[in-house]
Amino acid sequence: MSNAIVIRDKALLRARCDEARREEKRVGFIPTMGALHEGHLSLIRKARRAGADFIVVSIFVNPLQFGENEDLDQYPRTFEDDLAACEEEGVNIVFAPSPETIYAPGFESHVEVESLTLPLEGAYRPGHFRGVTTVVAKLFNMVGPSLAVFGKKDLQQALVIQRMVRDLDMPIEIVLAPTAREADGLALSSRNRYLSTEERTRGLSISRGLREAYDAFHAGERDVARLSELLRASIAPEADSIDYAEVVHKSTLKAEGDAPDDLVGIVAARFGTTRLIDNCIFAEDMRP
Ligand code: AMP
Repeated sequence: MSNAIVIRDKALLRARCDEARREEKRVGFIPTMGALHEGHLSLIRKARRAGADFIVVSIFVNPLQFGENEDLDQYPRTFEDDLAACEEEGVNIVFAPSPETIYAPGFESHVEVESLTLPLEGAYRPGHFRGVTTVVAKLFNMVGPSLAVFGKKDLQQALVIQRMVRDLDMPIEIVLAPTAREADGLALSSRNRYLSTEERTRGLSISRGLREAYDAFHAGERDVARLSELLRASIAPEADSIDYAEVVHKSTLKAEGDAPDDLVGIVAARFGTTRLIDNCIFAEDMRP
């Protein structure tokens, strides 16, 4: 297998991206943790459609965004397959640094977005978003992209990155891509491979609950508590535990908000030991 597109060194990465810019290429960047699936590949295609003609994908399982009792060691790593998929998509650079390349000894600087990281994922994964924004800011500095694509699958993450870029005046267009799903509704995730058949079937209660709340919203329901009840009624009998299953306002990620149509259903729940997250922006034309 040719590894011509793989770069592990950040000076070389910067040199290649500088060269692309000198050739007036528009650099598009897709940060990932690898174990690539069709959802990740849809982000690459989205970057191209948004005008990028030099595509950088990073593959880095970022230790800083995992809590002590989380699945850093178990996180799937499928590098050769990822590389083949990127080559197939015509990706120009796969940046696959070691943890030491990203976090040199004595590393002690972080980027933190405040209130938007407190609810939902932030409440259940303290320090997670600080790890995400820090690594994404570092990767942005290394790549210097014109645009970067993030999936709505991780909605809070995408909103947090948009806020970071706005607040810190990073000259990067953040493009959001829709959630890629299996035909039966399950949102694609690198962690789905850990679901047994029985857990996967129960996991479908998430997309079903989101669909029921979506349908109620489109039938005129705007009561956040009633929409949340609908969502939970589908998931509670099936999940082994629920971290959150709520309808909130997209602008605040809280039940309170002043734009009545700006609602999203958002969920994190466990099936066996696998934690699934998903969401649906009701006002968008994307029935889960
Ligand atoms: P990850 O490798 O899981 O950290 O994800 C890397 C990027 O892919 C993030 O922007 C995710 O939101 C996005 N992503 C993951 N799963 C999906 C999916 N099913 N549909 C669209 N984007 C996704």
